[in-house]
Amino acid sequence: MPNLILALDQGTTSSRAILFDRDGNARAAASQEFKQHYPQPGWVEHDAEEIWQTQRAVAESVLREAKAGPEDVAAIGITNQRETVVIWERATGKPIHHAIVWQCRRTAPMCDRIRAEGFDKTLREKTGLVTDAYFSGTKIAWLLENVPGARERAERGELACGTIDAWLIWNLTRGRSHVTDVSNASRTLLFNLQSLAWDEELLEYFRIPAALLPEVKPSSEVLGEASVFGGSILVAGVAGDQQASLFGQQCFARGATKNTYGTGCFLLMNTGAQIPRSVSGLVATVAWKRNGVTTYALEGSVFVAGAAIQWLRDELRIIREAAETEAMARAVKDTGGVYFVPAFVGLGAPHWDAYARGAIVGLTRGTNRNHLVRAALESIAYQTRAVVEAMAHDSGLRPEVLRVDGGAARNDFLCQFQADILGIPVERPAATESTALGAAYLAGLATGFWKDGATSFTPGGSAPSSAPRAGRCSAGRNLSRDSREAGISP
Ligand code: ADP
Repeated sequence: MPNLILALDQGTTSSRAILFDRDGNARAAASQEFKQHYPQPGWVEHDAEEIWQTQRAVAESVLREAKAGPEDVAAIGITNQRETVVIWERATGKPIHHAIVWQCRRTAPMCDRIRAEGFDKTLREKTGLVTDAYFSGTKIAWLLENVPGARERAERGELACGTIDAWLIWNLTRGRSHVTDVSNASRTLLFNLQSLAWDEELLEYFRIPAALLPEVKPSSEVLGEASVFGGSILVAGVAGDQQASLFGQQCFARGATKNTYGTGCFLLMNTGAQIPRSVSGLVATVAWKRNGVTTYALEGSVFVAGAAIQWLRDELRIIREAAETEAMARAVKDTGGVYFVPAFVGLGAPHWDAYARGAIVGLTRGTNRNHLVRAALESIAYQTRAVVEAMAHDSGLRPEVLRVDGGAARNDFLCQFQADILGIPVERPAATESTALGAAYLAGLATGFWKDGATSFTPGGSAPSSAPRAGRCSAGRNLSRDSREAGISP
């Protein structure tokens, strides 16, 4: 009987693979970085072939490490960098251009034009998204416009397009499946949140032939059969990275919220079966679809979070490594009135001010490195609070606890300060791989590897249990490192 799930976590800078066992423990993990291409200032591209080759290599490497073959793997779950798009030839599987990455700003002028025409309101209404170069639609339009012959070939049905999940599944299935999942589709500016289908009016507006696009599938269902690992393995779970992390953090209940503290912060709140409408600068997105039920989420991104710590290290050079910041912040009783606004690249949710710039205020003769470090960490927490409050305002739901992951969530001071200013507990899972775990869960649930419960399910089989938590910060208390239950009812 297969006793493993293979999670493929295709990120912006690296491709990773993890084999999980029935208890949700990682048995083997591997990762490979790949090259970032910057053809012009503000432009970012990836070589889609390199993405596939590195992804395939790390998958083979974990199978080797665990001495496992396709017969030992119940299913593959995929999670991926979102919004990044590839167009390839159906006949050869060769990309017609580098992938255009979510960070790429080349379509910002196109977005200005859309806003000037007032079409941004239609886009917001139908897709839940803001008109920004971040999302896929304008990137696809750019490729059709700028790669010679692309539009004609797309219209003749010779080309296929997709986000990275679709590209990986195409390659895993040797071109037999051209599919994506609802969570990835909901990031394209082409997908109608209500009808859960590609929207004809939007396709027409962007002049994108429907024949180019993948079929949209639920996030937890058999989407294809991978045949590249020396046998056949079902691809049974797919979600964009932030949605996968929401699932991996077991945020199954309405109002359940997670924050990933990485370079920036990504907050998602489960809003249940209702499409959220934001008046506070958040986006509405599909969290996942499974068992015929679509779950939506509100999302807010903070552009600079852990990156503020990198700035202290690399530009100000007042720290040597990120981990030092915890002790430094604790070495002073407060910031001494210093506030840090790390708006280095403008401000994301809830402000969306592209022209805002950073500031450090309240400096006195007595300000020292520790105060600055503490102010930087606090700024991550303040920005997070602003998004949580916008979410509560827009959804009418108040999270009871904030689940956290990402590199900067290792910082106990940050987690405690976050709990204190939110007035709710902050919980950090023992398994730090929430994203890959989410993809594995989606695949394992679709194939009966794990059983479903009412609001939760039970990794490990039939005995009810929940994900172990490595740490919890109660508001106004110290972080307890005791392992504890997740606060969800299996
Ligand atoms: P990403 O996936 O965005 O690359 P990660 O989740 O790997 O990010 O987290 C890396 C970020 O976390 C970096 O910006 C780093 O400065 C920050 N970071 C890592 N460890 C700590 C720490 N102990 N305290 C504060 N920030 C940290």
